[in-house]
Formats: sequence, structure tokens, C-alpha cells
Amino acid sequence: MAIIIDGNEVAASVLRDATVRAARLAGSGVTPGLAVVLVGDDPASATYVNMKERDCEKVGVRSFDHRYPAQITQAELEAVIDECNVDPDVHGILVQMPLPAHLDAERAIARVDPAKDVDGFHPANLGRLVRGLDAPLACTPHGVIKMLEHHGIGLEGANAVVVGRSTIVGKPLALMLLAHDATVTVCHSRTRDLAAVCRTADVLVVAVGRPAMVTAEFVKPGAIVIDVGINRGAEGLVGDVDFASVEPVASAITPVPGGVGPVTRAMLVSNTVDAAEAATRTRGT
Ligand code: NDP
Repeated sequence: MAIIIDGNEVAASVLRDATVRAARLAGSGVTPGLAVVLVGDDPASATYVNMKERDCEKVGVRSFDHRYPAQITQAELEAVIDECNVDPDVHGILVQMPLPAHLDAERAIARVDPAKDVDGFHPANLGRLVRGLDAPLACTPHGVIKMLEHHGIGLEGANAVVVGRSTIVGKPLALMLLAHDATVTVCHSRTRDLAAVCRTADVLVVAVGRPAMVTAEFVKPGAIVIDVGINRGAEGLVGDVDFASVEPVASAITPVPGGVGPVTRAMLVSNTVDAAEAATRTRGT
């Protein structure tokens, strides 16, 4: 029987810490602020944004809601980002992805002041991560690291296999695992004999977007399995890991829902408080 790594429990711990730090800032007259930019009427994006704003409220982070119709132009979107960049009450800026197809997401991401880039997507911050410098860290991969830390799972010398090489999950996670002294292998759609590579993992993280793709034959007995995948199907949300077959083989595993998702959201709030703390230090208040 594997230990179930409860994302809600880890998220609660991250949010408790953020609440204490937000209260400390409030004591010196600073309320951490998150600007949320949502374009279009994608229901899933609207749901995520609403949940993020609720998290902010619980912690004492003020959210500034910027919702625009899908027809907004690139110039108008960048003007909104510019306003948030110079607003001293805004410490973090979230541009909810995906943006409608006519908008250039890369340009929008690069327009955000790197100091306010609480998503950790800005090229400057990804570059800092590569160089081993302090930077806002992307919420999902940082959330995975938090979950491992929360459960006292040591990474030094461990074989970590990451399945998926996206810029928001797989690549930054590989760098974070390396920074924790794991030996890291990154897999993708062209990897040969994926199951055999995955079986070398002490820690296996799956971020692909294919329901229940990873079955027991991908997992070394006693491995730790982190399922980042979120797939919407007839039975609701399912992960990339076939929980029923993998759970008896693994020593610890995250469920979906209730795994990486809630921790990702909590990391956004935590990053906003970090950014407010950093801004306060810079201003010397
Ligand atoms: P992307 O689609 O950007 O990347 C998917 C990756 O999986 C790619 O690197 C792709 O390889 C790889 N891949 C696809 N098919 C296979 C295969 N058959 N075998 C091995 N690798 C394969 O997805 P994201 O990284 O954005 O998201 C991944 C999953 O995580 C999704 O389900 C998403 O919903 C979820 N997610 C969950 C979050 C959370 O908070 N829990 C946050 C963000 C994402 P290649 O590069 O070769 O195409």
C-alpha cells in the first residue's frame, strides 16, 4: 500500500505559511497584490481564475481582476500588462493561459516585469533557474518539489525521471530536480521504450496529458510517483497515471484530483507574497 501524497494537505501548509507572511507585510502597511488577466470566455480558465482569487482572499492577498473579451488586440493586452507592471499595489501578474489564438502568448509573457512574474514563465526567470540564481519558480514544478519535501523524500542521488518536456512543467522541473542533486532523465514523445526508462526511476513524475498512460509496468517497486496530468473525461478528472494499477507497486503516489493541482494554486499565492516581500525590501519600507 502506497502512501497517498495529499495535495490539499501540502497546499494548506503552503497557504498557512503565506498567510503568516502576508500578515507580517500588512503590519508594515503592504498588502500583497495579484493582478489576474483573463482573456476570452473559456470556462475552464474562468474556473481556475476564480479559484486562484479565492485562495488570495483566504491568505490576505488582494486580487485585481482584469477580464477582457476574446477580441482584445495584442497592443491592448500589452497595455494592460504595462499598467500592472507600474502599479505599486500589484506585486504579481498572472496572464491566464491559453490566450486566444490571435494573441502572441510568448510576447505577453515577456512583457511582464520579471520581478512580478509569479508564474515563473518569463525567459529571464527561466534563464536564472538555469544559472542557479534566485527567481520566481513556475508553480507546478515548484509544487512538485514542495510535495516531495513535505513528505521528507530525499532527492540527493535519486534517479528522477520526468515524462514531458514542456516549458511550464517538464523542463523547469528537470532543472529543479537537478538543483536538488537528483540524477535526472527527461522523456518525451520520441523516447524509445518509455516503460523501461521509467522503471529506472526512484522518483517518477508524469506530465503528458494522456489519461492513465502510465501503468504498473512503468514503475519500479517502491518508486515515488507524481502525477501532474489533468485530463477531463466522462468520469471527471483523471491523471496520466493509472492509479489503480500503480498504487500497489509504488511507495508513494499523488491522486488526481487532489494531488499536484491544489499545490500549484497555492504556489501562485506564495510566489505573490514572495514578490511583495522582495518589493518591500527593494523600496526599503
Ligand atoms: P504539453 O502538451 O505542453 O507537453 C506534453 C509533453 O508530453 C510533451 O513534452 C510531449 O512530448 C510529451 N508526450 C506526449 N505524448 C507522449 C507519449 N506518448 N510518451 C511520452 N511523452 C509524451 O503539456 P503540459 O506540460 O502543459 O501538461 C501536461 C499535463 O499536465 C496535462 O495533462 C496538463 O493538463 C497537466 N497540467 C497540470 C497542472 C496542474 O496544476 N496539476 C499544471 C499544468 C499542466 P513532445 O515534446 O515530444 O511533444
